[in-house]
Amino acid sequence: MALFCDRTPIFSHKRIKGEVILILSVTCEDLRSIAVPNDDLTSNHHAAIAQLLSRVTPLADELGRRFSAAGHELALVGGPVRDALLGRPVNDLDFTTDAHPERILEIAEGWADAVWTIGIEFGTVGLRKGDHRVEVTTYRSESYDPKSRKPEVAYGTSLDDDLARRDFAVNAMAARLPGHEFVDPYGGLDDLRAKVIRTPGRPEDSFGDDPLRMLRAARFASQLGFTVDPAVVAAMTAMAGRIEIVSAERIRDELSKLLTGAHPRDGLALLVDTGLADQVLPELPKLRLEIDEHHRHKDVYDHSLIVLEQAIAQEEEGPDLVLRLAALLHDIGKPKTRSFVEGGRVTFHHHEVVGASMSKVRLAALRYPKEIIADVSRLVELHLRFHGYGKGEWTDSAVRRYVRDAGHLLHRLHKLTRADCTTRNKRKAAALARTYDELERRIARLEQEEELARIRPELDGNEIQQILGIEPGPAVGKAYKFLLDLRLDGGPIGKEAAAQALREWARDQG
Ligand code: ATP
Ligand code: MG
Repeated sequence: MALFCDRTPIFSHKRIKGEVILILSVTCEDLRSIAVPNDDLTSNHHAAIAQLLSRVTPLADELGRRFSAAGHELALVGGPVRDALLGRPVNDLDFTTDAHPERILEIAEGWADAVWTIGIEFGTVGLRKGDHRVEVTTYRSESYDPKSRKPEVAYGTSLDDDLARRDFAVNAMAARLPGHEFVDPYGGLDDLRAKVIRTPGRPEDSFGDDPLRMLRAARFASQLGFTVDPAVVAAMTAMAGRIEIVSAERIRDELSKLLTGAHPRDGLALLVDTGLADQVLPELPKLRLEIDEHHRHKDVYDHSLIVLEQAIAQEEEGPDLVLRLAALLHDIGKPKTRSFVEGGRVTFHHHEVVGASMSKVRLAALRYPKEIIADVSRLVELHLRFHGYGKGEWTDSAVRRYVRDAGHLLHRLHKLTRADCTTRNKRKAAALARTYDELERRIARLEQEEELARIRPELDGNEIQQILGIEPGPAVGKAYKFLLDLRLDGGPIGKEAAAQALREWARDQG
């Protein structure tokens, strides 16, 4: 379950079956404070685990003691253990237990400040204690129906069995509570050191159980910068078609995490190389157009990945999914619009329009929210507009139209357009960057001028006539001009001071 990140804690509530559940989101600061420095991984993982647990205790130990007193096991598991060992910020605290959900609720009663049961049919109970939000999930040994789109839940009885059905060895480590015993039956720690993604058992079996894990392999490659074990890649390649049974929402969530990871290029390349992309994002592999006979025609696929990286390099406030999707998809209209013209030249007329509508279709199929679909397709549609700017021939009204059409996407459009220059010719690249600088300066200047044009004196014509006791005529115009200058020179001073200055001015004028 996602955690909201912000500087201030956010309260929200949900009503489930008539019950109001209060949810508190922990701040990013809190989460960072429970990360363990990376050096501890190689020197002493026991110390790292102890340190992690000491930061989350007394909470984790307290909960561990409660489960133990009730005759049940409890362990911290998966993501938080992995991330703590890597020194990454720990997102949510996931626990696993042999207690079934109803028992978890009983044990948590009187301890948790709030409880939510939204995931209870999958064996997950959400708890809040103070500022901490935790999830407790019953051991699983689920068997998946290969034709079903949703995993079927079957409860397990031991921690080892639960770890065996987790996706990757690096996600199959746990720390028992309250004793702090580190449990790593599949060599997850060795994999963390080797920076490799491996399945606990045979990858074919694991992916047969839940094909989404193939996408998760690429997602973790992107997030962690790890390589994927060759046997896992081979299974992904052989079984790519199986992803078809997985729901679009689950695919979308993994794709978004992949794209917003630190190394999305690696994750995407893995999807394309294994054939998974043919299933989940077929427009991407189709960008690998054959080089034309004259070898003048760049590979659009490679170009798109570079544009993605160049867009990422301009991000200011962390990963921007909309910008990244737009960068990746900006040229997807090219294969459909390619045409060879005389002299061996190739054209892609209107590929931005075709690409925008293709983006809409793909993102809708992936069940992205409508704002994301609208923003991404708009950026794709506008990504080429700047190329009509030439050496700055646009009229002011063309510049205004550019700003108006981009609307709230203007800053992202600046980034996308700048990223979309992948020529190896340094002079050409520098010239394009300078031209775009010039366009941005023009936009700023026009905005300022228009801001100024909107400035009015502090008193209008009627007020001037009233204060000076005069009839409409040239004198009102002169007074208006005086007040406008006063406003432009001195900024806002208020109606009273303006009236005073107006009277003094009128006296001087006689
Ligand atoms: P993050 O929450 O940062 O995205 P995470 O590792 O916690 O990363 P989740 O998707 O929250 O990933 O899953 C929590 C844990 O549940 C994982 O660490 C893994 O052990 C297990 N898990 C999740 N999805 C699957 C799956 N499809 N198959 C097997 N195990 C899974
Ligand atoms: Mg998680």
